[in-house]
Amino acid sequence: PSGISTPSKASTKIGKRIDVVTEYQKRVAEKESLNLVVIGHVDAGKSTLMGHLLYLQGEVTEKTIRKHERDAQKIGKASFAFAWVLDETGEERARGITMDVGVTKFETEHRRFTLLDAPGHRDFIPNMISGTAQADVAILVVDATTGEFESGFDANGQTKEHALLARSLGVQQLVVAVNKLDVVGWSEARFQEIVAKLEQFLVKDASFKKSSLIFVPCSGFTGENLVRSVVETFAWYKGPTLIQTIDKLDAPTRAVEKPFRMSVTDVFKGTGGVSAAGRLEAGHIQIGEAIMVMPGSEMAVVKNMEVNDEPTRWAAAGDSVLLTLSGIDILQVSTGSVLCARDAPIPVTTHFAAQIVVFDVKIPITVGFPIIMHHQSHNEPGVISKLVATIDKGTGEVVKKNPRHLGKNTTAMVEIRLNGRAIPLETFKDSKELGRVMLRKGGETVAAGIVTKILSFGS
Ligand code: GDP
Repeated sequence: PSGISTPSKASTKIGKRIDVVTEYQKRVAEKESLNLVVIGHVDAGKSTLMGHLLYLQGEVTEKTIRKHERDAQKIGKASFAFAWVLDETGEERARGITMDVGVTKFETEHRRFTLLDAPGHRDFIPNMISGTAQADVAILVVDATTGEFESGFDANGQTKEHALLARSLGVQQLVVAVNKLDVVGWSEARFQEIVAKLEQFLVKDASFKKSSLIFVPCSGFTGENLVRSVVETFAWYKGPTLIQTIDKLDAPTRAVEKPFRMSVTDVFKGTGGVSAAGRLEAGHIQIGEAIMVMPGSEMAVVKNMEVNDEPTRWAAAGDSVLLTLSGIDILQVSTGSVLCARDAPIPVTTHFAAQIVVFDVKIPITVGFPIIMHHQSHNEPGVISKLVATIDKGTGEVVKKNPRHLGKNTTAMVEIRLNGRAIPLETFKDSKELGRVMLRKGGETVAAGIVTKILSFGS
């Protein structure tokens, strides 16, 4: 990359202060950045699709693909060559550390994408939550094969749960890749059937705006309609390719001028300090600045930083960063910590009020209902300690005060108490990024919510 978008190479010497907001605006004017997550049922073809796309975008060399092809053939799984692309970039990127959520970048004509990829166990929902919590947009991959779409879409499939989670975690724009169309002879009827079923669900149940949903038929395996369309039997399709589609997605407005917040997804001992990886949720940061780690209120100084594997002197809201911190012990920073502006640290609490939407629960939620609360990359056990009121989803008005229980699809105000330590948390009003929680029980998501009030303060 060249031009104004690339901040000057970092050195350990602290240079003059940078006007980050101005630099950020210049960068955005050149090309907007978006964080993308790829979701969908196991075997829908997520890895193959993204691997092939990265290859077609020139992010992966021909030589690498040939090598994957040979290796895949050796073990009798020739079709996995593209899927391995993501693992490869993962390895190169990780430099010996394993990140909970891998990061790969690529560019289209008008956008710069950071691909947040859930790790090995692609269907391990907590990891998906942590990846999706950082995403601006999502590609939902569905398998068009007869019977496969249906099993991914039914009660035990992950298509619906992933889509609901994505929406609850703040993803507003969803691209649905109707994949493996090669298997069904590029059938337009099959494509339309899937669009109709999914659209109904995504708009009615998951509350996506119809205008924010884009359906793209494709084959991640043959590469059809990823970057171009060549198959004659597919001539019925006149819409954009997958690349053209994502190149037009809107970048959200970032909270660049709010106090600095970075949620930590990984910590390790780096050269010359403590390395903390994560995403900037709000504000901006530059080398030489002092920050506060919450919980704990310990101070540290940013000695070095990288954005998307490139050394840089500054970073702003929306960036995935790797910081090297000095003046702090590694024991004081952990996954789930939030690095903050020292004059405006994030609240830390074990007790808060939230407005939740109850998912498809088998047993209604009552007072004392135990949950695992997922917040960003972090989770803590707790209970629903009070049912304040049920609420009309449309008008926001109270339907019933002090309800005895909450059934599926209810919207309600509740209070939540965590069993253990206090965690950094903000109201949704103060932070769209740090004010969302996900409640799970026994491996199932029972509700998603936004924090409305912090009820106790820790430190
Ligand atoms: P993931 O679990 O969603 O990441 O799925 P993978 O990318 O690992 O793909 C699962 C299987 O489906 C593999 O055997 C792929 O080769 C195959 N596959 C993926 N995409 C396509 C496609 O577009 N067409 C066909 N025919 N097979 C595909």
